[in-house]
Amino acid sequence: MEVIDVEKAKQYSSFLEAMPQEQKAELTLETMKQHEEEHSRFVDAYNKNECYLCHKNFKTYSKANPCLHWMLRRGKFKKKDFPLLTAKYDYHQINMYLRWVANTGHYQMNINDMKDEQSEKKVFQLTIKWKNIEWSFECSENDFKGHTGVINYPHYHFQMTVDKRIFINYNGFHNRFSQQDLSYLYAINDDGFTPMYGANGSGMEDAMSTSPEDLLDRCSVIDEGQENDGAFHIQSMISNPDGIDGDIIQDAIEESRRTKKSLSKILKEKLSDDTSIATIISPSERVPELAKRTEHKPRKS
Ligand SMILES: [Zn+2]
Ligand SMILES: [Zn+2]
Repeated sequence: MEVIDVEKAKQYSSFLEAMPQEQKAELTLETMKQHEEEHSRFVDAYNKNECYLCHKNFKTYSKANPCLHWMLRRGKFKKKDFPLLTAKYDYHQINMYLRWVANTGHYQMNINDMKDEQSEKKVFQLTIKWKNIEWSFECSENDFKGHTGVINYPHYHFQMTVDKRIFINYNGFHNRFSQQDLSYLYAINDDGFTPMYGANGSGMEDAMSTSPEDLLDRCSVIDEGQENDGAFHIQSMISNPDGIDGDIIQDAIEESRRTKKSLSKILKEKLSDDTSIATIISPSERVPELAKRTEHKPRKS
């Protein structure tokens, strides 16, 4: 088992900061290139129902060769074998893999990594959805420090549901962080680094951080009765001291439906300058909710 050096992990961000600008840029570029290359292998294999890591069909389940594709549960993956995966892959590897899987569906929308929705008491909370499966990760301050008793190592908790039924429960395992995990997490939590999952691993936190103008430009009005399958829920409030011509708004809504052009753009063109439009953008109901965990009190003895 890897020996964890917490002090060294804490210094990771200073190490990054001390790196000369040019070297840092080179490293970022190299990492991005690797990611892109790896991701395209992932997609090619995924489209053939194959795993890019072990080159086997998703249904393959061999204990002799633990592999992340087990988590798609196309084969006979059992709960008790989960530790075989965490022994081989660390938190960041599992997280990244599942993000790629989730983004094969609607982009960003199936990854709830939104800071606003996470409890301040947690180091992180994350829920990723793909088809009928949800994977959730959680880490409290206690877990991160390695709470007292037998579980005295930094770890996270993991939950997996299939068809909304618990398959692996949060308290089933205390999953060890790797040295690399801890280095990243200290840099993110203590030193304000932004987690980088690249375009292919990007979730709702990135989506919501895009400028509102860019978001609105991408959103049109859906047909009446049609379900919102987008990542956002958008509400606009329009006001004008002299009143508003309802016909203009109705026309704009219809135009947006027909042309898929953004409603706010059309409204801005049609309404007079003293009309103000306030828009509230929130994640849509299609974004998975963070799966909460009830924490057991650490045992005294
Ligand atoms: Zn595999
Ligand atoms: Zn714990």
